[in-house]
Amino acid sequence: ETHVAVNLDRVIRHSLKLTERTAANKEVSIKLDTGSELPQVMASPELLKQVFLNILLNALQAVPNGGAVHLKTERQADHVRIHISNEGSAIAKENLDMVFEPFFTTKSSGTGLGLAISQRIVQAYGGHIYVENTSEGVRFTVELPVRKEGE
Ligand code: ADP
Ligand code: MG
Repeated sequence: ETHVAVNLDRVIRHSLKLTERTAANKEVSIKLDTGSELPQVMASPELLKQVFLNILLNALQAVPNGGAVHLKTERQADHVRIHISNEGSAIAKENLDMVFEPFFTTKSSGTGLGLAISQRIVQAYGGHIYVENTSEGVRFTVELPVRKEGE
């Protein structure tokens, strides 16, 4: 599996582009709070795109018609966080620890694999993925280490 210097802004833009039509069909607005340019990370751009796409598509399925999905990025000295949240029902407490388990799904035709695969991808790059119920709704966070000089 490839580790190359990835332009995160570009990967996020691509992922968003792929969800535009799905969002428009539900009249969902995707609100961006991305601030200044993000640092590079070492990863496969294709696999990272799959991670953001999985989280965004889950958010778009969970958000009510006409609701909002937020994507916010946060840069720290040695890592970067991408938060994706959606309005809608919270995840039941007893399910919070289960959503990353392979084949865990609450959907009639779900595979339960999107988040399990996403977690494996993110962890392969030394990162973390987690979920919280917040006042803004369900929020998934992807945290990735920033590429170091010479990597
Ligand atoms: P699938 O989408 O096929 O069900 P995932 O691995 O993508 O599989 O998600 C697993 C489960 O996590 C979902 O079935 C759902 O119960 C829960 N989940 C994921 N994202 C959200 C979200 N944004 N809001 C509420 N529940 C969610
Ligand atoms: Mg899914």
